[in-house]
Amino acid sequence: MDLDRLALLIRDVTDFPKAGINFKDITPLLQDPEGLRTVTRAMADNFRDRGINGVIGIESRGFIFGAPLAYELGVSYIPVRKPGKLPHKTRSVTYALEYGEDTLEVHEDAIPKGARVVIVDDVLATGGTAAATCSLLRDLGGEVVSCSFLMELSFLDGRQKLPDTEIFSLITF
Ligand code: AMP
Repeated sequence: MDLDRLALLIRDVTDFPKAGINFKDITPLLQDPEGLRTVTRAMADNFRDRGINGVIGIESRGFIFGAPLAYELGVSYIPVRKPGKLPHKTRSVTYALEYGEDTLEVHEDAIPKGARVVIVDDVLATGGTAAATCSLLRDLGGEVVSCSFLMELSFLDGRQKLPDTEIFSLITF
């Protein structure tokens, strides 16, 4: 499937989860038998032969695209989760949201020092989540090679929060 067709499988849901948000719903894409395969192949083609050691999936939709990418590249898969979900010793990062703050966690022993990792999520919006995940992985001694997204909401300018990081997105809105 080409990326133009893939983009047509992302559904806009207005005013979800609250008024004023135009939610990008990936469930029609996942329902299409070729959808996940197309996303995984396109991301894998971009990262093959680049010495990647691990793929980081951000809870929860980053898990959906991150795990098959790790499988396809034949590398480690590391979940970054919301607080209190990971059972072993964790390292955490707290970052500002529009209103309030949020925290993400990763297992302390998730990667060896110097590991080259790709961070995966479904949407790059304001960039806060991806920037926090980058700092968490760098704190563990990882080298963030790229942040990879199914889609980027360019009007929110999330790239400005990731100034020294390669950003790869399949679809730009
Ligand atoms: P941000 O930290 O603003 O870049 O937000 C990124 C996180 O929020 C990602 O994990 C997305 O899944 C989710 N997100 C933000 N905006 C949207 C949107 N318009 N539609 C769907 N998910 C979104």
